[in-house]
Amino acid sequence: MPIKPEIVEINEKYGAMVIDYRGIEGCFPEVSTIINKYEDLSEKICEVCGGKGSIKDVGGWLTAYCTSCYESAQAEHEEMLAVRKAKQEREFTGGCYSCGTQGAILRDLGNEVRIGYCDPYYEKVKLNVEERERRANELFSRFKPHSTDRICLRKLNKKFS
Ligand SMILES: [Zn+2]
Ligand SMILES: [Zn+2]
Repeated sequence: MPIKPEIVEINEKYGAMVIDYRGIEGCFPEVSTIINKYEDLSEKICEVCGGKGSIKDVGGWLTAYCTSCYESAQAEHEEMLAVRKAKQEREFTGGCYSCGTQGAILRDLGNEVRIGYCDPYYEKVKLNVEERERRANELFSRFKPHSTDRICLRKLNKKFS
């Protein structure tokens, strides 16, 4: 019995639309051509206003934005970070996360994570943070949507943390 052609799922992956289907490839090549065309277009159309865009990174999330919507999203993201940072500072008790010693300092660990460490513990943690950032940057520089090595920076960071 032939497989009934059907769209199984439509979702967003790494900023682009991804359509999962079955029973189409081979039997209906023209349909898979249309699907591929719109998947590719979804990387070039701003998700907010429908203008001309490309995949951009805002706080580790990949989204298709035009220049002005990207700037707005970036500004909104930075404002959110500032609010979070102020809250962390208000709630920080001064104790080191690793050894409990008072007099620790809130350290920016990248990936929007800030944790209080004393100097000796921060020296150890810092090396991991630098290595993780180096690897994330390296992979992002090779990033191409709809290729086999699509990378979501946030996932990547999580993987190495
Ligand atoms: Zn836009
Ligand atoms: Zn400590």
